[in-house]
Amino acid sequence: MKKVVKFGGSSLASAEQFMKVGNIVRSDSSRKYVIPSAPGKRFSADTKVTDMLYGCYALAAEDKDFSKELKAIKERYNEIIKGLKLDMTLDEEFKVVEEQFKAKAGSDYAASRGEFLNGKIMAEYLGFTFIDAAEVIFFDEEGNFDSEKTNDVLTIRLSKVNNAVVPGFYGSTPDGKVKTFSRGGSDITGSIVARAAKVDLYENWTDVSGFLVTDPRIIDNPVPIETITYRELRELSYMGASVLHEDAIFPVRREGIPINIKNTNAPEDPGTWIVESTCQKPKYIITGVAGKKGFCSVGIDKAKMNSEIGFCRKVLTVFEDNGISIEHMPSGIDTMTVFVHQDEFMDKEQQVVSGIHRLAHPDSIEIEADLALIAVVGRGMKSTRGTAGRIFASLAHANINVKMIDQGSSELNIIIGVSNADFEAAIKAIYDIFVSASL
Ligand code: ASP
Repeated sequence: MKKVVKFGGSSLASAEQFMKVGNIVRSDSSRKYVIPSAPGKRFSADTKVTDMLYGCYALAAEDKDFSKELKAIKERYNEIIKGLKLDMTLDEEFKVVEEQFKAKAGSDYAASRGEFLNGKIMAEYLGFTFIDAAEVIFFDEEGNFDSEKTNDVLTIRLSKVNNAVVPGFYGSTPDGKVKTFSRGGSDITGSIVARAAKVDLYENWTDVSGFLVTDPRIIDNPVPIETITYRELRELSYMGASVLHEDAIFPVRREGIPINIKNTNAPEDPGTWIVESTCQKPKYIITGVAGKKGFCSVGIDKAKMNSEIGFCRKVLTVFEDNGISIEHMPSGIDTMTVFVHQDEFMDKEQQVVSGIHRLAHPDSIEIEADLALIAVVGRGMKSTRGTAGRIFASLAHANINVKMIDQGSSELNIIIGVSNADFEAAIKAIYDIFVSASL
C-alpha cells in the first residue's frame, strides 16, 4: 500500500500543526510521499505566507525596500524550525530568495517559495528526501500543465526514492522559470504525484472533516458527504463548492485513485471519499447542492429556429469571437438562451447583441441580469422518481420563481436559475427538503 498525503496551509501554519502532521505521517508507513502547502493562517486575522510573499514581491518589483516584509516571512519559518527543535537554518535559501527578488524573478517564483521553504523543513523533520517541484513538474510554452512530460520524469524520479517531500503549487516552464498553478494548486500537485507514483490512495489533509452537502455560510452545520464520485465533485466544485482545487481530480481520475479528504485536527474522522464509482448508496438522494451568483441570460428568439441549420453555431461564434465563455444553454423550439458570467459579459453586451443580429438574424434578443445558478447534484437522483418534483415544490413553497431549468441526460445534476436575491433561500429550501426532512 502506498499513499500520497497532501497537507494544506492551515495544517502547516505553526510548529504545533507540523507536529500533528508528523504524527499522522509516522503513524502509517504507507504514507510515503508528502506534499506541503505554504504555512497558512494561525488565527483568523493572520496572513498566509503565500500572501506575504506576493506582497513582498510587489515591493521588489517596484524597486522599493522589501527587507522588513522578507524578515517577517523568515520569522514565520524560523518560528516553526525552533518549535520543532530542528538543527537547520534557511539562511542560504533566504539569501537566494532576496537575490532573485532583486533580479525580478517574477511573482510566481515569489509565491512558490512558500511551499519550497516549507518543503525543506518538512523533509528535514520527517527525514524524507526533498524533491524540488521545479525539477519534476512541467508547464509547456503556452503555460499549460504538461501532464505527460511531468508523469514520465516524476515516475522515474520517485522510483529512486523510498519516500519524498515534493512541495506543492509550482513547477517550471521550458525556459527554466518557476510557474505556479492557480491559488490552492497544491491539491493539483498531490494528484500529479499520486498518479506518477501509482499509489493506492491520495489523502488530502485540511482543517475540515470532508465536504459538506452545502455551503456552511448559508446553512448552519450542514451534514458531511461520506462518499462522492469524481463527476459529482466536478459539478459541485465548478459551481463554487470549495475544499479541493477544481483541477485536482484530473490526474488521479485517469488512474482511478481515490481521494480521501481528512482533517489534520481530527484525524480519526472518516472524512469524505472521492471515488470513480461506488455501489454505496448516498445517504440522501442528493449528494450536494452548490451555486453561484452573478450570471446574465441572453435569450434569442427566432420563429422556426428549430429548422434553421447552423443557427446555434452562428450565435455561439459571436460569443467566442468576443472571448466570452458560455455556462449553460437551455433551448426551446423557437428560442435559445445563453447563460454567461455577468462581469465578463457586461462590457461587451452591445457588441454581442449586434454581432448576433448581423450573423444570425434573430427576431429579438432579451438580456436578463442578476441571476444565480444552483446545481443540485447526486448520483442517487438517477432513476429516483420525483426528485425534480420535490425540488420545484420546495422552491414554490419558499416563494421562489424558477427562471431556468437544465437537466443533463446523465441525471447527475439539475441546474436551476433563480434571481440573485433568491439564491440563499433557494439553497435552503432544497437542503431542507432532501436533508433536514430526513434527519
Ligand atoms: N499556498 C498556495 C495558496 O495559498 C497554494 C496552496 O496552498 O495550495 O494558494
